[in-house]
Amino acid sequence: MRRQPVLFISHGSPMFALEPGRLGPQLHGFGAALSGVRAILVVSPHWQTRGVRVTASPAPETLHDFGGFPAPLYRLRYPAAGAPAVAQAAAALLAEAGFTVDIDGARGLDHGAWVPLRHLRPQADLPVLQVSLPQDIDAAGALRLGRALAPLRERGVLLIGSGSLTHNLYELRQSIRDPEYAQVFADWVREAVARGDTAALLDYRRQAPQATRAHPSEEHFLPLLVALGASDAGDAPQWIAGGMTYGVLSMDSFAWLPADADADREAA
Ligand code: ZN
Repeated sequence: MRRQPVLFISHGSPMFALEPGRLGPQLHGFGAALSGVRAILVVSPHWQTRGVRVTASPAPETLHDFGGFPAPLYRLRYPAAGAPAVAQAAAALLAEAGFTVDIDGARGLDHGAWVPLRHLRPQADLPVLQVSLPQDIDAAGALRLGRALAPLRERGVLLIGSGSLTHNLYELRQSIRDPEYAQVFADWVREAVARGDTAALLDYRRQAPQATRAHPSEEHFLPLLVALGASDAGDAPQWIAGGMTYGVLSMDSFAWLPADADADREAA
């Protein structure tokens, strides 16, 4: 089975579903080039639980887990199948790594999963499952979560950490538009990812400029560490320039591509 890439996707606001911006078309191109994907596994900040939970519904519903947005957003669906067998495999790997894990047969897909997936794979033809983010997890724990899931890549599973490279919702709601500080933070992350500096990224709250302003709380940054944990030295990190939406939300995203995928592309 073909080893699959790892992605960190910034979903910004739910409006990303209706406003593709710079990132949407790039995700679309990436999704169209996928090959041999058995399932897509998403870790989203919009599903935080005690311990870790894994969705195993064969037909997960689309959750509109947000309020006060335009009506068309609530009509969108992402009708992908679930992946119960992959859920069992993910749960086993997580338990082996020491996580307390439960299977959830009822939960649907939250907007942290389906909003970016509508751009990545609009035809919804690949099964999707989610792994929750434990409520009490920290940066090191998020990295361990990603490492635990990494073996699924060899079994045809595309792993996605969905978050937002900057995510100060207070400033968003107050209509504060200050892209410069957000860009400074995003640039620091881009450089750390490019040089594979896991230690710096783990310690981002102290080392990165504007870290606590870019992320007053950590949940939208931690999926980046999950993705980083699922990557290894055999992957080539790639920056996906997503631009800045609403003046404060960086949509920058990353892909870690297996070396053999690079070879395929060069041969093509
Ligand atoms: Zn979000």
